[in-house]
Amino acid sequence: MMVSETIKLSVSLKNTRALVVFDKKAKSYKIVDCSKRSFCRIYLSKNCPPYCEIVVAVKDYALKRRTPKAEISEL
Ligand SMILES: [Zn+2]
Repeated sequence: MMVSETIKLSVSLKNTRALVVFDKKAKSYKIVDCSKRSFCRIYLSKNCPPYCEIVVAVKDYALKRRTPKAEISEL
């Protein structure tokens, strides 16, 4: 059976909403959309930095490190 390692997540945190694709195997993330993109300079880096609250919450959720501060749902 093939198990997908990639999950698509809808993340909601305070005033920020984001759509993130996370690869559990590679532990890599791709920010599809982030309402805080100007803060994260997503246009320059094409991704949010590791310290972005959205990224931190996604990692907490996907890697089960701790309870994420954001509301997260799998799409
Ligand atoms: Zn961000």
